This record gives sequence, structure tokens and C-alpha cells, in this order.
Amino acid sequence: MSKVVGIDLGTTNSLVAYMEDGQPQVIPGLSGTSAVPSIVSFDPDGSPDQVVVGEAAKKHLISGSDRTIYSVKRLMGKGIEEVQADLKYLPFQLSGKAQEIIRVHVGEKHYTPPEISAIILSELKQRAEAHLKAPVEQAVITVPAYFNDSQRQATKDAGKIAGLEVLRIVNEPTAASLAYGLQKKKEGRIVVYDLGGGTFDVSILKIRKGIFEVLATNGDTHLGGDDIDQCLMLFLLREIQQQHGRNLMDHPEALQELRLLSEKVKRQLSSEDSAAISLTLAEQKIDYHREITREEFEGLIHNLVERTLTPCRQALEDANLKPEEIDEVILVGGSTRIPLIKNKVSDLFKQTPHSELNPDDVVALGAAIQADILAGSITDMLLLDVTPLSLGMETMGGVVNRFIPRNTTIPTSAKEAFTTFEDGQQSVSIHVVQGERELVKDCRSLAQFNLCGIDPLPAGMPRIEVIFLIDANGILNVSAKDLRSGKAQSIEVKPTYGLSDEETEKMISSSIEHAREDMEERMLIESRNEADTVLRHAAKGLRHGTTLLDPAERKLIEQSMSDLKKAIEGSDHSLIREKLSSLDGATQKLAELLMDQSVQVALKDKKLSDS
Ligand code: AMP
Repeated sequence: MSKVVGIDLGTTNSLVAYMEDGQPQVIPGLSGTSAVPSIVSFDPDGSPDQVVVGEAAKKHLISGSDRTIYSVKRLMGKGIEEVQADLKYLPFQLSGKAQEIIRVHVGEKHYTPPEISAIILSELKQRAEAHLKAPVEQAVITVPAYFNDSQRQATKDAGKIAGLEVLRIVNEPTAASLAYGLQKKKEGRIVVYDLGGGTFDVSILKIRKGIFEVLATNGDTHLGGDDIDQCLMLFLLREIQQQHGRNLMDHPEALQELRLLSEKVKRQLSSEDSAAISLTLAEQKIDYHREITREEFEGLIHNLVERTLTPCRQALEDANLKPEEIDEVILVGGSTRIPLIKNKVSDLFKQTPHSELNPDDVVALGAAIQADILAGSITDMLLLDVTPLSLGMETMGGVVNRFIPRNTTIPTSAKEAFTTFEDGQQSVSIHVVQGERELVKDCRSLAQFNLCGIDPLPAGMPRIEVIFLIDANGILNVSAKDLRSGKAQSIEVKPTYGLSDEETEKMISSSIEHAREDMEERMLIESRNEADTVLRHAAKGLRHGTTLLDPAERKLIEQSMSDLKKAIEGSDHSLIREKLSSLDGATQKLAELLMDQSVQVALKDKKLSDS
């Protein structure tokens, strides 16, 4: 039977975990350590046949720096213009046009970031299969809470390329909370401080009746242990230049060696008061030795640590909470082993943070728990994901047509058919909006696209099917299709992206505040729309049926039309409805006569074609 696993696809290291007898376990690696370095090394010609991953690839960081790819998570779902700051630190070659997917060049070949991540995922899949002695086909993969749509999508793509069905993309802080079993708490507010190799995330979660709600998230996608290594490395580079007059910046192999050395020293300083640094580069005639104390190191990284505290304060402010109101703090990511970080986090949140579990394993363990829930093994634990705000599209007169009401459990979908308003209309605009208000102008605009190529037909004839679909990752896909011509168009958006909980709350409360006036306005617009359509039909009917009516009947219709036109100019929707129904009555006979006439024409045509 195939197994389901949880995967923490990290910037520096990746891990895979599974559930055994109701307990999450990280799958051990070959050399006893469970973390697989997120590093992929190719043959000099870039052939994918000879690729090595993890520890084996790490060995090539120095000798094969141009074909050994690390920190690929930083490139996921990004364009080349977004990674400019990283380029000078990455010894491998990248290319890509603006707005296009990045290509990583290795020898003759080039790879996209999802393809490289897929190689890491395949390795994790294989290790899990070897350990579990069963095929692994489904997985939950975690991403930083900060990841935007394209980064989430790129992660999903990587899973697919690796032959995994990605059951869900889960935010890392949610997984960490699950690992600590915090869903069992009745009530509480949790801060998850996650400083990994390449990303920093802080999230404030609220638990109520075992259900997590994200109150605020903040962070920095470009801050992590790699930056701490770099900080120490740059300090050493400067010192080497001062002592030896050599700038190693232009020596990729020497740089890599210095980077690995810096990381080793950093780790050592987490448990010891000082560390010895020793670097011998025969080629560059460099023999450099020194001792560094934890205090000196803390002085160097002080600013970087401070940079993590600003998003923490901002998250507290966004959640409208004081540090004293936080019940639990969880430390995640290898970098939280640094004593200075533990102390600063304790000071800020005024409590000792949780670090009982291995901070490197926490996210993978939580992902395994989530995978188990999704696979249906755990039934007593509820993980509800709901749409926080309603989703709909703009219709005539700026009115919102609601497809998916707020608090609907996802995944979900909704379908409706629309038509055109004008004769011969060949395109319609689909404007996707979010919010609780009745009018588009008071909602949040999410996306807009045009469906073109509709067959030119009289107004009201085409059938345009619009489907809203939200997948389990919260990604909304809106598609529109002209059922006659088959022309279709779609768009993908992440409705919650860039929306704070405070803004969500505001959108909900303003809908309650304005409910009455919104409804009035909606009814006015809808009655005006209907009146427009009826007036156009009546005018057309009069043109075609002039000879069928006596003058009194004609006059009554004209009078009713003029009354309705006058009513539209005002803002009394019940008056418009009243005048609509009068016009309806006045045109009853005309409608019947026109119907008879068209039946007779049709019969005559049939006779002619039969004879
Ligand atoms: P991740 O695997 O993404 O959680 O993060 C790994 C990061 O944690 C890397 O930057 C490591 O250098 C860092 N790290 C691991 N162990 C330690 C330690 N003992 N002290 C300081 N940093 C560490």
C-alpha cells in the first residue's frame, strides 16, 4: 500500500516525515542525519543522468561550484529581476527575461527552479520508499507563509515533476503548531518564529476549539542562516584582505570554502564560547588563523537579529496584541539554536520559547500530521480552511454576483451561466471581486480578463459559463467559456494574498454596517437594468408591430414607456418595479400579436420549402 508523507522543502535542508503508530517520525538519511541538504550537483556537461543530491552534492560545492545548485528555494516562482541581490553570491549561472521563469545553466543544459526542486523531492521520495519499503505517491509540502501564488505554484509543479501528488501546500507555521500538538489547546495565541537557512517568517496564530486562525504574518523572504554565514564570511574576507592583501571575491572556490567554514564556526558558537578559525589556501598563498568569541560573533550579527524583530513587532501590531497576550512561542529552523536569537525572542515576547523539539524537524513532523489528516487516518482532528471573504464577479451596473459565500470550506466550486447585453456583442469582461458588499466599487478587485470570440448573436442568446474553483491551497481559478463557440479563458489568483486579517475583518464589518443602503442600491441598479432591457424590447416590438395595433393601444404603450423612463431617472426602485409591471401589461397584446405573426411566417416558410 502506498504511503503519504510530509515534506519540508527547505532552503538549506529538506526533510521527509511520516506517521507511525500515530506519531510523526522524520525519515533518517543515509549517514544518520535526517536532513538532506537542498543541494543538487550535475556532471560537468549538465547531464541529468549523473545528478547527485544532498550530502553527495555538498562535496562538489567547492570543486564544482558552477554546476552545484543550492538555495534554489530562493529562485522558486521568481523572475530574474527579483533575484538580482542574490546573483553575486550564487556561483552558478542564471538567465531569464523579465517576467519569465529563471533558467539555471549547468554545462550545456539549463533547468528551471521547479525542475531542480523536483530532483530534491525525488531524492526524498526514494529515501522514504527505501525506509518504508512501500511506494510513496502522495505528499504534503510546506512553504513559508510569505510565499505568493507563483511560488506556491512552482512548489506544486516541483512535486508533480517528482511524481508526487501534492495533497496540499501547507504554511510552515501551521505545520509547526501541529507538531507541538497545540491544536489540543482550547484557546490560545501562538507566535511561530521561524528562522531557517534562507527565509524568516513570523506568524501569530489563534486557536479556538482546536481550529487555527492566522491573525498576522510577517517576515522577510531574504533573511536566514545563509545571511548569517555571509555576514561572518564578509568579515573574514575583509580581515584576510587586510592581512594578506588578497581579495578572494573573485575566486569562487575560495569563496565557497570560506562560506562552509563560516557556517561551521557559526554552529560551533551556538554551543561554545569561542571557536578557532583556520584557512589555508595554498594556491592563493593564504594561511589565516584566528580565534573568534561568541561575543564578537554576536556583535557582527546583531543587526541581522534586529531585522527579525521588526517584523515580529509589526505582526503584533497587525494582530492588535501586546507581547503579554501571547500564550506560546515556538522556535523553528536551525538558526534559532543561536543563543542571541533565543534571548532576543524571549525578551520580546516575555517568555521562554518552545524548543523541546528539534527546530529542524518541527515543520516536517507537522507536515506528516497534516498529510495523515488529509489521507483520512486522523478523524478526530479538524483542520478547517475556509474562504475568509465572499468571491464573486461584476455584473451589469456594477453589482456583485456572489459565487462563493464567505466561510465556505475549501476546496469548493460554483458555476453560473451568463449572457450578453447587446446585439452582436463578441466579448465580455470578467471582473473577479472579493468582499461582502453589494456593489463592485465597495469590494476588493482581484482580477479581470476578457473573453473574446463570442459568436455575434442577438442580446441574451449566447450562453457564457463562468466557473469559480478554489483548490485546497486556497488558489482561485476563474474560467469563462462561450458554450456555442467553445472559446474559453481563465485566470488564477490567491484571494487571501496581501490581505491582512484586520482588512478582512474591516470588509466584513463594513458590509454589516452598510447592509441596508447596499441592498437598496443593489435593488435600484437591478430594477434599472431590467427596465433598460424591457424598454429596448418594447421599442423593438413597436417598430415591428406598428400595423398590428390600434392607435389607443399604441398610445398606452408609449405612455407606459415614458413613465418607466422617468422612473429610471429617480432612485425609487419600487416605483421602477411598478412602472415595469404597467409596461408589461400594456405590451401583453403586442407580444401575443408578434408571436402569432412569427408563427405564421414560420409556417409559410415551411410550406414553401415543402412544395
Ligand atoms: P533549515 O534547515 O532551513 O531549518 O535551516 C538551516 C539553517 O540553520 C542553516 O543556515 C544552518 O546553518 C543553521 N543552523 C543549523 N544548526 C545551527 C546551529 N547549531 N547554530 C546556528 N545555526 C545553525
